[in-house]
Amino acid sequence: MKKLFYIDYPQEHVEGQAHTYRCAYCKVITTTINGKLEGHLPTCEYRIKMQQAGYEATGKVQPGATVADDFD
Ligand SMILES: [Zn+2]
Repeated sequence: MKKLFYIDYPQEHVEGQAHTYRCAYCKVITTTINGKLEGHLPTCEYRIKMQQAGYEATGKVQPGATVADDFD
């Protein structure tokens, strides 16, 4: 089971960086995660939960697929 994008993880604002957000669990910034489960650290609670729920981390990136990281 796969999702195209994994963007339903809890995010928190990075202090001092106006438009930078990161995963509340693994602290990886959203632009690095880029909507991918494997963008989270292997120890990330969200990633672990998703994998336990049957979702796969895939290294494949859809050609031309981008995730909007501008939530303003
Ligand atoms: Zn994470």
